Amino acid sequence: MRFCRFQVSTSSGGNELPCFGFVEGDQVQEITAAPWAAWSKSSRAWRLNEVQLLAPVQPSKIVCVGQNYLLHAKELGNPVPKQPLIFLKAPSAVIAPGEAIRMPRISERVDHEGELALVIRRWCAQLSDSDDVRPYLLGATCLNDVTARDLQKLDVQYTRAKSFDTFCPVGPVIETDFDPGAAITVETYVNAEKRQSGVTSEMLFPPAHLVRWISRMMTLEPGDVIATGTPAGVGPLKDGDIVEVIVSSVGRLQNPVRAL
Ligand code: MG
Repeated sequence: MRFCRFQVSTSSGGNELPCFGFVEGDQVQEITAAPWAAWSKSSRAWRLNEVQLLAPVQPSKIVCVGQNYLLHAKELGNPVPKQPLIFLKAPSAVIAPGEAIRMPRISERVDHEGELALVIRRWCAQLSDSDDVRPYLLGATCLNDVTARDLQKLDVQYTRAKSFDTFCPVGPVIETDFDPGAAITVETYVNAEKRQSGVTSEMLFPPAHLVRWISRMMTLEPGDVIATGTPAGVGPLKDGDIVEVIVSSVGRLQNPVRAL
């Protein structure tokens, strides 16, 4: 199942309130609640081209994992992490598929980081190493962990570099037919040229380990997002670029890049 969040125009030219639904073929079926809550089908459906897709999540937090692919840790010149390196990205940075990434004036180097993102279904805390994480996961989506690389290097921690408005494109859908143990390809293209490519089986800490490990620090809430790290090949974006994150069997997330 492929859940989405969307908005439809009213006859007077405004927009209805955003709602959740699922995509089937070229149709979007509205549902009565968030996909991580108790939902049912409403009586309304549209063709996909009649709705405006929004980011499929409104997370209370976005937990990101840094340097989770060996080759990416090496390209940054960092030692290989011995345990997951996590940081938070502001939920206010989330934008929709197709929405512009705005490059802040105070950064001279804004990078793409294409990633597989996990979406939480159930309250999740204090999981043990033997717990099955699948009941806690709704599915997977694509995420671009846009980063002001110069500010990341300048600051002691990552908050500023990772949390500018528009620095977190997510979507277009949450794919629930997702096996956290599968080998999934994560690629990033800039202007149709491949820049990043990796397979989740190359992760230093695989998705199930990340969910359990993070749950022992902070309660993961329904709709929360874990960005699982980016493969090697990160690089700068410039005004006018089109950046696309493709996660195999999950989706394609495309966003233009604009100077602020
Ligand atoms: Mg990242």
